[in-house]
Amino acid sequence: MKITKITASTMNVPNGPPVSEYYVSNTYIVARIETDEGLEGLGYTMMVGGFGARSVRAYLEESLIPLMIGEDPRDVGRLWQRMYENDRGIRKKGVPVYAISAIDIGLWDILAKSMDQPVWRLLGAQADKVPVYGSGGFLPYTVDQIVTEAEGFRGLGCRHYKFKLGRENLMENVTRVREVRKALGDDMEILVDANQRWDVATNIRVANQLEDCALYWYEEPVLADNIAQCAEVAQAIATPVATGENEYTRYGFRDLIDAKAAQFLNPDIHRCGGFSEMMKIAHLAAAYDVQIAPHLVPELSIHVLVSIPNAALVEFLAGSPDDLWADPPQIIDGLMAPPDRPGHGMGFSTDAIKRYTE
Ligand SMILES: [Mg+2]
Repeated sequence: MKITKITASTMNVPNGPPVSEYYVSNTYIVARIETDEGLEGLGYTMMVGGFGARSVRAYLEESLIPLMIGEDPRDVGRLWQRMYENDRGIRKKGVPVYAISAIDIGLWDILAKSMDQPVWRLLGAQADKVPVYGSGGFLPYTVDQIVTEAEGFRGLGCRHYKFKLGRENLMENVTRVREVRKALGDDMEILVDANQRWDVATNIRVANQLEDCALYWYEEPVLADNIAQCAEVAQAIATPVATGENEYTRYGFRDLIDAKAAQFLNPDIHRCGGFSEMMKIAHLAAAYDVQIAPHLVPELSIHVLVSIPNAALVEFLAGSPDDLWADPPQIIDGLMAPPDRPGHGMGFSTDAIKRYTE
């Protein structure tokens, strides 16, 4: 089997309120991989807010697609390494890894389709479902809005809910968490996300105030580039730290683990290097009993989560338009199962392709 053509396209997908107050839309860079045997793979990567999307597409088209033409798409490992090693002057953080991830996801789609199996079957499934956590609670939300959103997820059977820290008045953050804990009761786990907003001392002050709330995790306390500072917070507070949505490849995650910077890692399959690299990251973490709870992209991450021993949770963020996917995985009794179709099983709906392609 040979790759005959890869077509890149851009889809701008609007977000609903209140996510749209931050990010009007997310941008998908799509890579449709065609083969001489008629099988097609759908690769895609997503940029929150659309930042960097044109750069990712340019890297994909100029640096990666030419490497793939004529190659057997089933040689996923060899082709991943080829993309990774192609240029030595651009370090594999950020833009290039978003693009590598898109191709990797499309290659796995073809490999699994060629065997008439879902991707999770090839990854070595060991569970059939994973618990979902509801995610949202953006900073403009009132406490009532946070509680309403959390109750909505509870209605779907979810037992975990995450909202944002980062209001300017520090004590207001503490009060909000206490109020949410009181309203939700003790049978809902609460996760908080600082989105890199604070310095070490501020995070420690806030987290120490919140010890009696028994938070499930405390996410991205400091700037993602500063792993040593994340580790400082992780050593200083009682709540487990989660981080990794802005980290790339096995090497970045090795550094997080080495530094003991987090008890939960949040690789994003569109950023960290696709299925191939997320599996390596998960296995590396498993050897340290570090849990994996991927950032966003539940429809693809779920294939990895059901295939690893250290899966914690899959993230579900409300706000994407209902018509984006043809047949997305649903939350049933708080759990998500991966699509049971050949390949990764995902496709944009015909309407979405028409409406959102630039
Ligand atoms: Mg986050």
